[in-house]
Order: sequence, then structure tokens, then C-alpha cells
Amino acid sequence: MNLASLTISEIQEGFRAKTFSPVDLLRALELRIESAEPTIQAFLSRDFHEALKRAGQADVSLPLGGIPIGIKDVITVKGQPCTAASKILRGYTAPYDATVITRLKAAGAIPFGRLNMDEFAMGSSTENSAYQVTRNPWDTSRIPGGSSGGSAAAVAAREVPAALGSDTGGSIRQPAALCGCVGLKPSYGRVSRYGLIAFASSLDQIGPIARTTRDCALLLNAIAGRDPMDSTSLDRPAEDFTAGLGRDLKGVRLGIPKEYFVDGMDAGVRAAVESAIKHCADAGAELVDISLPHTEFAVSVYYIIATAEASANLARFDGVRYGNRADAPKDLMDLYLRTREEGFGSEVKRRIILGTYVLSSGYYDAYYLRAQKVRTLIRRDFEAAFEKVDAIVCPTSPDVAFPIGERTNDPLKMYLADIFTIAANLAGICGISVPCGFVEEGGKNLPVGLQFLGRSLDETRLLGIADAYERASGWSRQTAPA
Ligand code: GLN
Repeated sequence: MNLASLTISEIQEGFRAKTFSPVDLLRALELRIESAEPTIQAFLSRDFHEALKRAGQADVSLPLGGIPIGIKDVITVKGQPCTAASKILRGYTAPYDATVITRLKAAGAIPFGRLNMDEFAMGSSTENSAYQVTRNPWDTSRIPGGSSGGSAAAVAAREVPAALGSDTGGSIRQPAALCGCVGLKPSYGRVSRYGLIAFASSLDQIGPIARTTRDCALLLNAIAGRDPMDSTSLDRPAEDFTAGLGRDLKGVRLGIPKEYFVDGMDAGVRAAVESAIKHCADAGAELVDISLPHTEFAVSVYYIIATAEASANLARFDGVRYGNRADAPKDLMDLYLRTREEGFGSEVKRRIILGTYVLSSGYYDAYYLRAQKVRTLIRRDFEAAFEKVDAIVCPTSPDVAFPIGERTNDPLKMYLADIFTIAANLAGICGISVPCGFVEEGGKNLPVGLQFLGRSLDETRLLGIADAYERASGWSRQTAPA
């Protein structure tokens, strides 16, 4: 049995039956990491000995007892580095656990490794990391998606059974789609962001990337819930997110938004998604044509609101309190300016400049205020749609994974990678990407993701629908060649 390719549920069976132990599992993963990492480069760092110690003491009777979980480098784990893949935080060690980490540990899981990402989660390819380029395990000449590209690549490359990522405009769902994994963005307020380095606070959510929908539900069970340390986390009674799993699609009403089948979409992606939707209909789902009329504004609205919030959030990296500081500053202003000049990469600077501009007096009403109003219209589009349907089904990404370097000089083209994922963050609803087939290019199979979107706080139903599709279609759990 290859322990490195098991799902969380299969690992739990193995632990229960005493076929293998948490230490056996961790050793198998470390071996796999040693052979895969020279090419994949998903990990910025990892502490195998610390993880091994935890595995030795793991209590497998706990919900995630002895399960190693990779962590995106934007979520703090006490005593471990946390850089958000930025030079400005090189050498920084987190002094406390994020709430999701406290909860994972309480559930018995082992946070294992720091996973690469776009700097401060700004990007769609992980190429904006200040440290390394992560490769897609399906074709190592291509990007893994982003910004949680390290999380998705590590799961696809069988280096960890699951990982945590963060999703501000698609950063969990898009890399999951491009690497053939399942990725869940919970509803806004479902999961505490205490200990998540903030990018855009009205959009950010933490969520899982795993091999199956069931595994995502298990992880959500562990991390969800009200946290007094994050005032935006919602107070909801504890829910078992696996409760909707194991059903079929009979009678499920699925909305097909016409605005999500646009010109310019990759023909192979369109074919895979259309055949997946037909599969849902054949399995008993009722397809309903819907319209989300303000979709065309989502990318523009996002790049105003996200940059505005980022410019405020990133003001704290000034060389005084965290991470790196410029050498021998002349005075305080020189310290601020050089620290930020040397510490931030060009995409991060671009966002700070854009965000400062849209918030500046004279432009605030024309950009920021107007974007907030259109955001409300986008949210209302979804509310109207969910009167008619249980979930919306559409592509996750307009393209399959693209070659490394192809879009690095074309920010606008890079921004369009999230055209189908961004609206869910603006509306605060939940969304999941599950594998739905492949496009063959240059002799390689490149995964395609199918996205289901659900009402705010309707994760149990959303996971049930995604799980029903996943089991009926059989596209999950295919093994990447690298
Ligand atoms: N790609 C989008 C961006 O660059 C979304 C990133 C994210 O979800 N963190 O902002």
C-alpha cells in the first residue's frame, strides 16, 4: 500500500485497524517529499523531527488524530517561520498559533510544513513567491495555480494528504482545479482568520485543499466556528459538515449561469465542464438556466476593493515591528521607505499603489464607493439565484494550468484567471472545486475543475452535492505523473 496517496478517511481506517501508525505515515510522506521536492518545490520549509515527535504521541481516537496537514505560509504556527512568501518577513518566527492551528491540534492533526504561495496571496500562479517557483505535478513545466499553489501541488504530488490554503478571490479553488484536487472556500465568517496574515479582510477565508470532498468536510469540521479573537467569525451551532455526504443528485436543482460560459474560455475546459453538467443531469439533477447579470463587473470591483484593503493591511510592514529592516537607515522615513522598497515584490507594490489611489480623496467616490455599491448588486444577483436553485454549477477557471513564465509580464491576463471565482468572495458565499476531467496538451493530461457555489453558510448541502458528483463521476483521485 502506498501510504502517501491515501485520503484522510483511508488513513483513519488504517490507523483504526492498526495496519500502520502515524509514525509510519509520516515517514512515508517524508520519503515521498525527498524524491518529489527537488522538482515540485511546494515546501518553503518543514520540521520533520517536530512532526515526527507529534506523530509518536498522536491520539488516533481524536477526529484528525495523527493526520499531517500542510500549511500555507500565511497562517501562523507557533515557533515556525511564517513569511507569506515575502522577503519582508524572511526570518520571522510566529509567536502564536492561528485559531485554525489551535483547532487542528485539538483535533489531533499535525501541522506539517510551510507551503509556498504568491507573495501575500497576491497572484494566480505562485510565481510571485519571493523564494521559489512551484511546479504542477501534472506537467512540471506549468504553474500549479495560486495563490495557494504550494498547498495544491503538495496534495497532488502526494507529499501531504491535505493542506490549508486561503481564498480571497479564488486562491483555494483555482489551484485545486489546476492540480486535480478538491478545494473548499467556506462562507465569509465560517472560519476564524486570527493568525492569518491579512490581505483583504472583507474577502479572506481559510479553507482546505484535499483529495476528496469528504476530506474537506472533515477538515471544515475541525476548523469552523466562532472565535472571540476574530469578530467577523459567526456564532453558529456546531454542525457536522459530513451530514450531507453519501447521497445522490436526484431532485437537486443546479443553476447554470449564462455569464460563466464566455468567449475566450479554453475549448477543452468548456467541453469538460459541459459534459460534467450533463453528467449531473443524467444523475437526476434538475438544470435551471439562471443569470447573474453583474458578473462582468466582478473582476474590476475585486481589484478596487482587494487592493484598497491590502494597502491598509500591508501598512504594518514598516521595518519597525515585524520581519526585515533596511540596514543603516539615515532617519525614520528612510527606514520605512527602504524597508518596503527592498522587502516587497513588484506585484505587492502594484497592489499597494492601486489601493492607495482608489482610496485617495477625489477618487474615493469614483472608485471605492462605487465598487462597494456594485458589490451589493453582485451579492443580490446570488440571493435572487438561490431562490430558484440549491447550488450553482460552473467552471472554476477559464483555462488549464499555463506554462511557467507565460503571464508574468501581463498582470491583466493574470487577473483574469480568477474571473469565475472572485464573485463568491465578493458575495461572501461558499464554493468548492472538484475535478471533472482533463485537457490533453503536449502529451500531458491537465486537470479541469468544476465549481459548485452555495448560499452563505450552506456548506453541508454544498459538500453533499459536490460529493455526489465526485463519486458519480470518478474524476478524483487520479494520480499525477510527477
Ligand atoms: N488571484 C487573485 C489575486 O491575485 C486572488 C488571490 C487570492 O484569492 N488570495 O488577488
